[in-house]
Amino acid sequence: MKKEYDILVIGSGLGGLVSALVLAKEGLKVCVLEKNNQYGGNLQTFSRDKLIFDTGVHYLGGLSKGQNLNRFFSYLEIMEDLELQQMDEDGYDRISFGDDAIEYPHAQGYQNFAEQLCKHFPEEKENLENYCEEIQYVCSQFPRYNVVGKDNYNEEILHLNTKRFIESVTQNTKLQSVLLGSNFLYAGDSENVPFYVHALTVNSYIQSAYKCVKGGSQISKLLIRKLRQYGAEVHKHSEVSDFVFDENNVLTSVRTKEGKEYAAKQFISNIEIRATIKLIGEERLKKSFLNRVLSWKPVSSCFSIYIVLKPHSLPNFNYNIYHYSSEEQVWNAFQYRKEAWPETYMLSSTASKHHPEFAESLTAITYMDFDEVKEWESTFNTVADEHERGEGYEKFKFEKTEKMLEALEKRIPNLRHAIKRIYTSSPLSYRDYIGNFEGNMYGYMKSSENPLKTMVSPRTKIDNLFLTGQSVNMHGILGVTIGAFNTCAEILGKDTIDRHLKKII
Ligand SMILES: Cc1cc2nc3c(=O)[nH]c(=O)nc-3n(C[C@H](O)[C@H](O)[C@H](O)COP(=O)(O)OP(=O)(O)OC[C@H]3O[C@@H](n4cnc5c(N)ncnc54)[C@H](O)[C@@H]3O)c2cc1C
Repeated sequence: MKKEYDILVIGSGLGGLVSALVLAKEGLKVCVLEKNNQYGGNLQTFSRDKLIFDTGVHYLGGLSKGQNLNRFFSYLEIMEDLELQQMDEDGYDRISFGDDAIEYPHAQGYQNFAEQLCKHFPEEKENLENYCEEIQYVCSQFPRYNVVGKDNYNEEILHLNTKRFIESVTQNTKLQSVLLGSNFLYAGDSENVPFYVHALTVNSYIQSAYKCVKGGSQISKLLIRKLRQYGAEVHKHSEVSDFVFDENNVLTSVRTKEGKEYAAKQFISNIEIRATIKLIGEERLKKSFLNRVLSWKPVSSCFSIYIVLKPHSLPNFNYNIYHYSSEEQVWNAFQYRKEAWPETYMLSSTASKHHPEFAESLTAITYMDFDEVKEWESTFNTVADEHERGEGYEKFKFEKTEKMLEALEKRIPNLRHAIKRIYTSSPLSYRDYIGNFEGNMYGYMKSSENPLKTMVSPRTKIDNLFLTGQSVNMHGILGVTIGAFNTCAEILGKDTIDRHLKKII
């Protein structure tokens, strides 16, 4: 007889693993299927020259005692084992523009945030305090942002626009750009993006900002260890390729590319929503739903360079640098001019194990449209399924790397002498490793004009199929975790989830 699970989760991204663990802790028989060689989706790391590089998590917010992510992770029983390093309290992010040598800090703690920026903008004290207050108010209006409480979205707040809000806070255009300076975290569209996206993202880091020592994959490793302790099964190299329905439109099982079939009572899809639609079959879904989702625009993808440094060649810095070619660039940084690429980048460094005052590696990321790699879109390449993309692609990556280095050298003049080796990833790497449409970083663009258009319920028209993950929720470690608890609330009931979370302080 075929084994039947209570819950089958498709995809082991953060949303899939968190949902699986919440349900396994309830005593349900859970199984997670992952297509890749490594679990975790964007939590994956890779290792080169004995160093670990993150692909999709560089820092985490809200992890100090009593803060939201700390409480969620405590419930999941992974908090105590996470190896974390707090970032510079007086400037975990630093924003710079053009040739201006000043790095404007985003500091941890609201009072400190305002105080540190006041050093550069002394006449803006009151405006900065108002900004901090508004951010906290907007966050308090979000369901589950404060772990328990608040059931519904406040529609008025969903419609607030980031550009209009920032312009209302201060007339000082430089300060406006500084406040928006970390908008790479939501793919750089400050003109259209709802203010809640900005508020939820920056609030989390202003509360507290940490790096994962040895990379973000420790989160997926800890979640999987806990899942197994609670009796769940987790399988890699298991790409779901078909959904099997009965005559009543009930999903009964899934088949994998490798030819196995897994039956379950309920299913959670943690994969990109377009891929889920393909598996369901468009004919089973309402036209209005389909048209809505297919009209969503993916957020930009990115090009990253991972630099292995020679020992003791560059000092370490315990913060991220967000650099823009000009102040104006901040507003819609993702719309770059090809001839001037890269007009912006995020740069982070990792401390050497034995000499932490020096950096052992650097990672720099910038926007890149999928169009730039379209020529090679029919190729596929991952560690588990290796295929060369060809000489043309290697040349393309080499040229882009040179341009990135030229941009970085303006801030770190001796950089080239310090480099031992360089590795790169392009939108194709993100597409192939995660399965995201056109390698998008965070899912789909949200707009304050029509905020509900890009929000979908975790419930689907198929009664026993639920959704989770960044393509249907807020992205980011906190956003996806909150989304996963909301998905489980649909299955277990909101009261059950609230009851559990209330016990965690
Ligand atoms: C460059 C970059 C930097 C980032 N930096 C940060 C940061 O510093 N801080 C932060 O909070 N967030 C950051 N994020 C965002 C964060 O990493 C993501 O929002 C989050 O990890 C997404 O989780 P998810 O649940 O949506 O799953 P995903 O990560 O999208 O994973 C989905 C999983 O499903 C699997 N899958 C796909 N198709 C199938 C199939 N058919 N069968 C089985 N499995 C399948 C995939 O292989 C993958 O493992 C960053 C993202 C990127 C891209």
